[in-house]
Amino acid sequence: MKIFETHAHLDFSNFDKDRDALLQDCFAKGIEYIVNVGVDEKTIIASIKMAEKYPQVYATVGYHPHDAEAFDAEIVRKYAKHEKCVAIGEIGLDYYRNLSPKKVQKQVFEEQIKIAMEMDLPIVVHDRDAHEDTLEILEKYMPPKVVFHCFAGDELFAQKVLNNGWKISFTGTITYKNSLLGNVVRMVPNDAFLIETDSPYLTPVPFRGKRNDPTKLRYVIEKIADLKRIPPKKVAEYAYQNSVRFFLGE
Ligand SMILES: [Zn+2]
Repeated sequence: MKIFETHAHLDFSNFDKDRDALLQDCFAKGIEYIVNVGVDEKTIIASIKMAEKYPQVYATVGYHPHDAEAFDAEIVRKYAKHEKCVAIGEIGLDYYRNLSPKKVQKQVFEEQIKIAMEMDLPIVVHDRDAHEDTLEILEKYMPPKVVFHCFAGDELFAQKVLNNGWKISFTGTITYKNSLLGNVVRMVPNDAFLIETDSPYLTPVPFRGKRNDPTKLRYVIEKIADLKRIPPKKVAEYAYQNSVRFFLGE
């Protein structure tokens, strides 16, 4: 089973002790590609460095809404030009934690959408409790390639995202007992979803509470297979093809 991990933060200090061994383990267990996601200057640089070290690792470049006040367009432009940068992200709005003022979050989100479009790069969106504003800002620009990372909306919102030709990405949250995402998983067409761990966060059942890593993607795959009533191998294959097209443009 070939697996494409579309969203991880393996540069975080949670992995300092065993990063290289973990990556080798991932590659040995069928993880063919990993997109490591930047959230601020430090993690952008770390993601690019990991991507330079491992052919299977790619990077995204962007300022997370939590770090919107530190946004530096020059940093984004500089690293987005790197040959291993495959997207601008994760960018968006977070009204759950509101670590930056809403106004700044919105401005910085828009600035980065413009950079992505200028540079012809896909966008990895972070939307937490901010569906309406996120959609409104994106629809103002209509970038062609957008993925809603760790999708957390309802079916109506999912339909709006899909109608724009954008992708929906599932994490370990779909395995949680209280998850409301079952119907969204069922309705998303096979050519419109991606899978991710968001490691070290969002560890799927039965490892919930422990550190997450890309080898645990199989639990996300099995849950999608279960909900869609198709074999896990097919789920991995669809997600893999969608991810290659989305990030690598093949
Ligand atoms: Zn993330």
